[in-house]
Amino acid sequence: MSQHPHTFSRYCMHCGQRLTTAIPEGDSKRRMVCLDCGFIHYINPRPVAGAIPVREDGAILLVRRAIEPRMGTWVFPGGYMDVGETAEEAAARETREEALLDVQDLSLVGVYTRTEAGVVVIVYEGRALGEAAAGEECLEVAWFAPGAIPWEELAFDSTEWALREWVARRG
Ligand SMILES: [Zn+2]
Repeated sequence: MSQHPHTFSRYCMHCGQRLTTAIPEGDSKRRMVCLDCGFIHYINPRPVAGAIPVREDGAILLVRRAIEPRMGTWVFPGGYMDVGETAEEAAARETREEALLDVQDLSLVGVYTRTEAGVVVIVYEGRALGEAAAGEECLEVAWFAPGAIPWEELAFDSTEWALREWVARRG
């Protein structure tokens, strides 16, 4: 899962003037506004879609991150959605890119907000089809039985939240 911090432009994307902060009329929060053209630069969280691939024997696939942040830690495949695809399609695409694996029959595990990162992570589980191998941004892939998930080496809070819910739901 690629993650980059929220970046704030200090200049108006429309007219190039320097932005300032103010509470717009009818609003309740301080925003970045352009006093020159009046444009309000809302800063919204970005959706990330991920999939927990589940094998027939109940093991799940995790990938080990080859990139910062959290290089070397384990996470299920996921990443930023592209415009024009559904969250399910994004989760399946990221699984193909990162683990060279197809997943089917996706069902929602949960939605997790990482407020500090400015992302909303939408996590599915899906039936894994075939074998996996390390793809983009991954050092290796491995299958873990539910009792052998490497809780101390997971990448993000949202990784742990989703996996704990998945394990609990599985019973
Ligand atoms: Zn402007």
